[in-house]
Amino acid sequence: MQIGSIGVVGAGTMGNGIAQVSAVAGLSVTLTDVTQSQLDRAMQTITGSLERLVKKEKMSEDNKNAALGRITTSTDLGAIGSSDLILEAATENLALKLELFGKLDAAAKADAIIASNTSSISITKLAAATKRAERVVGMHFFNPVPVMQLVELIRGLQTSDETYESVEAIAKAVGKSPVQVRNSPGFVVNRMLCPMINEAIFALGEGLATAQEIDDAMRLGCNHPIGPLALCDLIGLDVQLAVMQVLFEGFKDPKYRPAPLLVEMVEAGYLGRKTRKGFYNY
Ligand code: NAD
Repeated sequence: MQIGSIGVVGAGTMGNGIAQVSAVAGLSVTLTDVTQSQLDRAMQTITGSLERLVKKEKMSEDNKNAALGRITTSTDLGAIGSSDLILEAATENLALKLELFGKLDAAAKADAIIASNTSSISITKLAAATKRAERVVGMHFFNPVPVMQLVELIRGLQTSDETYESVEAIAKAVGKSPVQVRNSPGFVVNRMLCPMINEAIFALGEGLATAQEIDDAMRLGCNHPIGPLALCDLIGLDVQLAVMQVLFEGFKDPKYRPAPLLVEMVEAGYLGRKTRKGFYNY
């Protein structure tokens, strides 16, 4: 299926980025959210981001204006009715997404593909909440979307080859490098990244070394651009804990148990950069 238009549902951090790269790639974009103020903020963010590209001479003023002209916003979910691809990037909450997928299935045209940007929810489960399970797929972009190269394309048990091929083509068209992943807790990146961060928190909790020393060790010994604890502060300790819980519950394997120090820091409200306190102070 040739995709020319995209409906982005949820205009937060990820929805904004997805709308931006899609519009720049020439797709017509319908961006929806529950409140007008969220949509206004989203358009400000996207405009600011494109203006920075113009300033750095990475984009012309005309191309910026053309991209912005391809985005329309609406608080009415029905506005995605003519989109070829619906990309759901709403709040990470199972009950919310299951209900939303039912509504999207009813509002989208019959042959539209519905994709979710979820980090942790089963694509197979979301697909089962629709009457078009073979046209449901995961498109897991990374933050910040305009910068990060990867998109994990998640095949649910029901996803058809045709659906997969269509989203693979569109991921490439928006300038990303897709990797095909079978539906499974944490997909590929979080399955490996989050246990590594968890192990760093175990090491800290056991007093092996200080936070700074653990981060320096991984930066200097493994050439990581940022240490695991500093990265956890960036991701958010609550998000890291949620992923570990998904892995632990999904596989029932004790190797995925969240580090006790992580649990306790989340209980204390030390969530990292967003609360200005995590493994470091900000
Ligand atoms: P966010 O909180 O920044 O934005 C979510 C948006 O969804 C909000 O604007 C909210 O108003 C809107 N929303 C909630 N219910 C809605 C509904 N019924 N209809 C339309 N909009 C609705 O969240 P985010 O960080 O952009 O995450 C969105 C999705 O992307 C989640 O599934 C998350 O797991 C995933 N994700 C996030 C990251 C990240 O680093 N933030 C990375 C990869 C994937």
